[in-house]
Amino acid sequence: MKAVTVVGGGFSGLATAYYLSRAGIPVEIVEKTERLGGLIATLQTPHGPVETAAIGMRNSARVDAVCRDLGLRMLSSTRSSSRARYIYRQRPRRWPLNPGEWLALVARFATATARGSRRPRPLETVEQWGARVLGPRATRWLVAPTLQGMYAGDPACLSASLVLGARGRPARPAGKGVVAPARGMQQLVDALESRLRTREVSIRLNTPARLDGSTPTVICTSACDAAECLRDVAPAASQALSTIDMLPLVRVTAFYPDGETHQRGRGILFPRGGDIRALGVLCNTNVFPDRGGRYSESWIYGGAADRDVVHLSEDDLGAVMDRDRQLLCGRRVPPAARLVHRWRAALPHYDLQLESVRACGFDLPKGVFLAGNYVGGIGVSMLLEQAAAVATRVGEMA
Ligand SMILES: Cc1cc2nc3c(=O)[nH]c(=O)nc-3n(C[C@H](O)[C@H](O)[C@H](O)COP(=O)(O)OP(=O)(O)OC[C@H]3O[C@@H](n4cnc5c(N)ncnc54)[C@H](O)[C@@H]3O)c2cc1C
Repeated sequence: MKAVTVVGGGFSGLATAYYLSRAGIPVEIVEKTERLGGLIATLQTPHGPVETAAIGMRNSARVDAVCRDLGLRMLSSTRSSSRARYIYRQRPRRWPLNPGEWLALVARFATATARGSRRPRPLETVEQWGARVLGPRATRWLVAPTLQGMYAGDPACLSASLVLGARGRPARPAGKGVVAPARGMQQLVDALESRLRTREVSIRLNTPARLDGSTPTVICTSACDAAECLRDVAPAASQALSTIDMLPLVRVTAFYPDGETHQRGRGILFPRGGDIRALGVLCNTNVFPDRGGRYSESWIYGGAADRDVVHLSEDDLGAVMDRDRQLLCGRRVPPAARLVHRWRAALPHYDLQLESVRACGFDLPKGVFLAGNYVGGIGVSMLLEQAAAVATRVGEMA
């Protein structure tokens, strides 16, 4: 069989090449930058590790199997204290609704279940679904901040069936919680790379892909880069991909001096319309306490509701973060160190437009496949499922 070209050496591309090469299919990865990993990287600083994108992945049978196969020692956020998420309503609350609001939620949910109308409808937004099935208060204080924290999207545009539909979820999780390699997500990227090299997968860095239709190809890039790749060989698919809205994100990671009050749990989500500008804060050290280093937090900014934040200078971002933290903690503590990572086109907006584009399908030339975080899910464990599925389809074509 001809070698399959995998375009993009991010997690999707590495995982796709892993499954293709495991099936004995010759593979070549072409990556336009000088490194593998795409959004994912772990920087080892004197204060502790800093992740640029995913800090871990939802555990699943497949994640477990791949990490075992790669011989990775995994950390797991299995303690309930490290899994607890808080939502800010005057203060961080584990349960952000008052008793009356909970009762209203349960009553509405039970009615929707009894009527068989609980599931999202086609082209229904999260806001519309929430108002219909859970009520406006539960939507404002529970559903919207949670989904904004995960998808960075606007609840008035987010597609309920894309983000709440059960289809495609990894089957039979191996255990609860989030897992990550002991030295951070870069270790997973490195382990995949070294496995691919032992299987003689060719990896070409600094090589922007040019599709000519002569070799089977899996495009494992962002939606906007996939649109660019397909411009000459599949103009209709390229046009459809170019309509997918890409959201900017900024991650400000700060390390604090010993003794500084730690937040509890995995992190806090901030509903829009309040004083705090961040979408959420992730308490990195609480998620994986065994990793070492100083206490650190990552403040996440941007998304559909705050696109301009990506253009702020590092000093201005630091000032925004310090102010948000002061509003949260009641005092200003200068961090021991701070690192900013910004992505102008970080994630696809899981909105009604993406739902429509996915429902129409992509008119691709024979032998061209798509994988990536706009196809079947944003999280790393979903990308792994997708990589296995696309490798099977390529294998069937051979
Ligand atoms: C701030 C942030 C936090 C996140 N947190 C989590 C989390 O905690 N858990 C989780 O599961 N997920 C998380 N995610 C999501 C997850 O990290 C991403 O969905 C995932 O890393 C995307 O991987 P990818 O390979 O599909 O895309 P990318 O990482 O974007 O990789 C695409 C690659 O393709 C290359 N490329 C593009 N065009 C070409 C071309 N023409 N030729 C050759 N190469 C090309 C790019 O250079 C890049 O290396 C987070 C994302 C962000 C931004």
